[in-house]
Amino acid sequence: MEGWAWWAHKYIMHGWGWSWHADHHEPHDNLFEKNDLFAVVFGSFAMALFVIGWLWFPPLWYVAAGITVYGLVYSFVHDGLVHQRFPYKWVPKKGYWKRLVQAHKLHHATTCKEGAVSFGFVLAPDPQKLRVKLRELKEARRAAGSL
Ligand SMILES: [Zn+2]
Ligand SMILES: [Zn+2]
Repeated sequence: MEGWAWWAHKYIMHGWGWSWHADHHEPHDNLFEKNDLFAVVFGSFAMALFVIGWLWFPPLWYVAAGITVYGLVYSFVHDGLVHQRFPYKWVPKKGYWKRLVQAHKLHHATTCKEGAVSFGFVLAPDPQKLRVKLRELKEARRAAGSL
């Protein structure tokens, strides 16, 4: 699931799906974002798999359960912990959770489709390395004349 989430974020959300994902990279005060539609789509997909699995093909039920668990973890950690959209506040001070928050904040260091780092989520890379990568991407784009 993490591999799929990474892929979807990099190639769909920062690809042809950018028009839905763009507002997640812009500051705003709205309660919802167009980006939330992705959760609706993935949720409906999981629901469909649950039904198919239940009626005809049981293994799909487990696939759907896996997607749902990942989706729940993602929304609690991404929307709750990192973006603080839920009414709980906990700012991790060290270790894995802190690294995860920093890695995702670095993903938000850019407000455009290209040049972002850290598309994955649960597997948080070292923020120091991400900063270096971010700088490299920026320089590459500057050299190419797109900045
Ligand atoms: Zn993004
Ligand atoms: Zn985010």
